[in-house]
Amino acid sequence: MTRNDELAEMRRVERQAAVETIAVEIAAEVTAWSQAHPQAQWDELEETVLKARQRFGERLLQTLVTEREETRPVPGPRCPQCGKEMHYKGQKTRHVVSSLGETPIARGYYYCSVCKRSIFPPG
Ligand SMILES: [Zn+2]
Repeated sequence: MTRNDELAEMRRVERQAAVETIAVEIAAEVTAWSQAHPQAQWDELEETVLKARQRFGERLLQTLVTEREETRPVPGPRCPQCGKEMHYKGQKTRHVVSSLGETPIARGYYYCSVCKRSIFPPG
């Protein structure tokens, strides 16, 4: 096993653990809520589960995006306008709107010194 294989395997194990932690925490929240509200009606239970699903989706998305940021490609991506390599300029928080709602995500951005523009790959 090469050093890169070992790192990839470590990341896979960490990612799996992070996803399981999210699932366990959210399941515990829902269970605690249910126990604290024994008189809850069907629609309240349904709303609680739907909100939990939303939180799970947001946190899962954040985990996956963060992992991609940590393994960002070297060299940087090509500028979509001029084709030159773009340079990593650090992270900025973006509010990403998806079918899961609006999720604040810290993402790396890249700058093209020719075109003076920046992008957040993959888009
Ligand atoms: Zn450019």
